[in-house]
Amino acid sequence: MTEPHLVQRTCRDLGGVARAAELAAAGVGRRALARALADGALIRLRQGIYAMPDLDPDAAAAVRHGGALGCLSAARALGLWVLTDDDRLHVSMPPTGRSREHPDCACVLHWTGGVLRPIASIVDVLRQVLACAGPEEFFVCLESAMRLKRIDAAGVARLRARVPSWVRPLVDDAQWDADSGLESLLRFRLRPYRLRIRSQVVIPTVGRVDHVIGDRLILEADGRENHDGGSERHRDLVRDAAAAALGFDTLRFDYAQIVHDWPSVRAAILAKVDAGLHLRCADRRRFSA
Ligand SMILES: [Zn+2]
Ligand SMILES: [Zn+2]
Repeated sequence: MTEPHLVQRTCRDLGGVARAAELAAAGVGRRALARALADGALIRLRQGIYAMPDLDPDAAAAVRHGGALGCLSAARALGLWVLTDDDRLHVSMPPTGRSREHPDCACVLHWTGGVLRPIASIVDVLRQVLACAGPEEFFVCLESAMRLKRIDAAGVARLRARVPSWVRPLVDDAQWDADSGLESLLRFRLRPYRLRIRSQVVIPTVGRVDHVIGDRLILEADGRENHDGGSERHRDLVRDAAAAALGFDTLRFDYAQIVHDWPSVRAAILAKVDAGLHLRCADRRRFSA
């Protein structure tokens, strides 16, 4: 007789969601399964599909629908940075699967999923984000997945092979060390201008800055949480002064500006670039001649 907690462990080892047949193959017989269900050690999601009782409710709804948590819903569940506030349930469905009724269903379906599991594979999730929310959201999610090690180099290569050719340069440009979604967004939005952008640059006497455009235009992107105290502001002013003494120009934007008021941010950056203020002084003389 298999104890309910051992049945639960078996389900967890199978990924948190399992078919009765998979449980049986792992040594969980019908009776042990029934006892585990009666005991609350497992829950039944739909006919023949069982899960850990603490499964994320969104993932449970996705499995009830016949798939796995996918697209933006999966990206959020994985802790990736998501721009849009679309809070519908996005479900990754196997191409040969069947859509099932469940209470309160308003799911967005993506018929590009794989095997039974609570959350779709990261490659499927990113492809779905691309199809559903476009290249900007895709790029931000990809860099965030790379940063959080939700995807490895082999995964990035698989992803690259499975996106349309016009998206491949985006995959190639994605970096492993983006510090925040805001940085990824900034890099994405500045791509058309072909500016040299370095991230997380350490400048002596200044410290680490978010971005340097060209040689000497510093671009700081303040996140949502930090930078609201007076001491933060003082520290920023000290840094800006140290940077100015070295011939750097600093532009500083916050979250709301970059996300919601991009035209004004772009205009500020491009005005500096047009004036050659991102180039070294020697280059600038040549630039403006
Ligand atoms: Zn979607
Ligand atoms: Zn549904």
